[in-house]
Amino acid sequence: MNEDRAKKLADDALAELKAQLEAGHSETLLKFIECVSRFHHYSWRNCMLIALQNPGATQVAGFRKWLELKRYVRKGEKGIAILAPLTYRRKVESDDGSEQTESGVRGFRIVHVFDLLQTEGEELPALAPIKGDPGDLLEGLESLVRESAIELRYEVLPLGTKGVSEKGSIVIAEGLDAAERFAVLTHELAHEWLHGADRRQETTMTVRETEAEAVAYAVCSALGLDCSTHSSDYIQLYQGDTEVLSQSLALIQQTATRVIRALTSAKQDEEVAA
Ligand SMILES: [Zn+2]
Repeated sequence: MNEDRAKKLADDALAELKAQLEAGHSETLLKFIECVSRFHHYSWRNCMLIALQNPGATQVAGFRKWLELKRYVRKGEKGIAILAPLTYRRKVESDDGSEQTESGVRGFRIVHVFDLLQTEGEELPALAPIKGDPGDLLEGLESLVRESAIELRYEVLPLGTKGVSEKGSIVIAEGLDAAERFAVLTHELAHEWLHGADRRQETTMTVRETEAEAVAYAVCSALGLDCSTHSSDYIQLYQGDTEVLSQSLALIQQTATRVIRALTSAKQDEEVAA
């Protein structure tokens, strides 16, 4: 694919993304935000405890919290033990003689939580899935990542994380289907290319997540995958909007075009060789 054609495809996709952002929060996003807000944010220590006892855990909550979400813990499922702080409150007299309430932690007790897979019931809301089959473009993308001197690994990641990128290495969650793996890997590659130490300092997380996801959207759409409202919802989760998108548009465009060209020319070379 030549440069102009790749750029045109990226441009068209980005115009579509802009229209979606203008339309605001989708129904799916509203449900998703409500659901996420119900899950407790676990401490680093509890995340470790969860990962040790159930390495595949994606979303955990206590028995009663699952009931609120209209899901039931299956009979015979073993709980994951975590530590809950025992807090206290007591009235104390302050120096000026007034009474004040003091609170603190006086220890921990073990409580049990359960992973999503240990429960059944109503489906949890999720962002729209990426649909389609990237075919051998996925392999092409993996090669592109490695050729860019980035180490790529597939591993079990904790609690719903799909991908992480950090200074020359990308880790993608095991078990994603091909379309999602392709989209997540493009997102992380965009972080690697665009958000090195310098730009990390001068950009906010909103800008970085908008840029990475817009690149993923443009590449996926240009190559025939269906992202529906996934990317615009994702960007809005990080408080991104059309303004953030417009400010980074040139950068997003260049990066998406670079990926599209690399993948489609690799494919053409193969076809010529065959
Ligand atoms: Zn990201």
